[in-house]
Amino acid sequence: MNSLINQSRPPMFCPGCSHDRSVRALDRALGNLQVGPADVAIVSDIGCSGLFDVFFSTHAFHGLHGRALTYAAGIKLAQPGLKVVVTMGDGGLGIGGAHLLAACRRNLDLTLLVLNNFNFGMTGGQFSCTTPPEAGVGPGFLNCVERPMDVGSVAVAAGAPYVTRCSVHEKDLAAKIQAAIEFEGFSLVDIWGGCPGRYMKRNPASPEHLEARLKELPPLDGPVSKNSRQEYGRRYREYCGSAEFTLDTRGIEPRAVRPFSGRREFVFLGAAGDRIQSAGSLLASAAMHAGLHAAQKNEYNITVLRGPSVSEVILSTEAIDYTGIECPDVVVVLAEEGLGRRKDVIEKISPPCRVIRDSSVEMNLPGEQAHVLDVNFKAYGIKKEEKALSALFLMARLGDMVTNEMLDMALSEEYSGARLESAKDLRNRTSDIPLQLS
Ligand code: SF4
Repeated sequence: MNSLINQSRPPMFCPGCSHDRSVRALDRALGNLQVGPADVAIVSDIGCSGLFDVFFSTHAFHGLHGRALTYAAGIKLAQPGLKVVVTMGDGGLGIGGAHLLAACRRNLDLTLLVLNNFNFGMTGGQFSCTTPPEAGVGPGFLNCVERPMDVGSVAVAAGAPYVTRCSVHEKDLAAKIQAAIEFEGFSLVDIWGGCPGRYMKRNPASPEHLEARLKELPPLDGPVSKNSRQEYGRRYREYCGSAEFTLDTRGIEPRAVRPFSGRREFVFLGAAGDRIQSAGSLLASAAMHAGLHAAQKNEYNITVLRGPSVSEVILSTEAIDYTGIECPDVVVVLAEEGLGRRKDVIEKISPPCRVIRDSSVEMNLPGEQAHVLDVNFKAYGIKKEEKALSALFLMARLGDMVTNEMLDMALSEEYSGARLESAKDLRNRTSDIPLQLS
């Protein structure tokens, strides 16, 4: 049986943490299913259960607190062949409760492992939606006036067709997880365990104690016959394929000449209001007009009108699996804020990377590391919000990463009216800038 545990970042929890049992049981279940790393996506939430995606060498997605089921749904709909396993703690489950209800009533083929240890372990042992009223918890005590949520019963009431509730010490935990993954439809395994780092400092959670508490609840162990029905993804595909419902699935028809083969990485570093993300998206669109694959990742502060704005774009003639920046080919530096945010990118610059830099930005780039085009945008009447698009026109003039033909197609697709005219005018003004790479 092959293990899918990530050998370079193997599981690590507090000593005695029951999550370790769950990781091993999930690994055994996947091994018994004889699936490979590319066949599985682990989607994790926040908290100690949120580490699961790192501990497996499968596809992985680490989401926001309480939202893991939403990402998992998108992944499963886009890639129906993947086994999608979601790990959430009771903390995330309470925060994102509505997503649990949606998953239960929808019945998309996902498996949710609830790593239920009755508290928010990672953040200090606060009470969660499953904490018993008599438990002593971290900073707070109001669990004594709340009624804990019975996750399994809520799932059944919401329409889940497969629900198991068990202790992490269950001998056949791996088999239970395997059966849930094999079930075609939404399956939930509520795994009760102990958090020695927090909860168990003041509360019992021994195997015997968990077993006794589980016995107080109605047993749940697999298919829920009253909720049995067709799986959502199958119905969705049938429905979308029917004559009454048609989707506009037109893609971008590649008509421009591709300027390169292989993979190219672009990073735009600016500030809020620099239209950094728009430039990244226009570059991605331009690339698709030349038949290239494109991936874009943006980062910006939650603040409005200030703070860094970063866009990373990968273009490739091959499908893009890894979307991290390894070795940038073009870095556009338009503001100190973006530069300060992504110093790591500057450290990765090596020849023949090109840097297009607004000359007002102070930047230390050791001698031979890149070809730098210093541009005084202001001197050419190019405003703050125009600089990122102007940098794209400069790239097109340099010619080997993106071409004017590609940009024209993207502009006609994405812009119209006065915005399109203004972009064309900007291109004319950019053409006055000399291309002197240092
Ligand atoms: S805080 Fe609790 S749940 Fe988190 S790793 Fe430690 S023992 Fe496990």
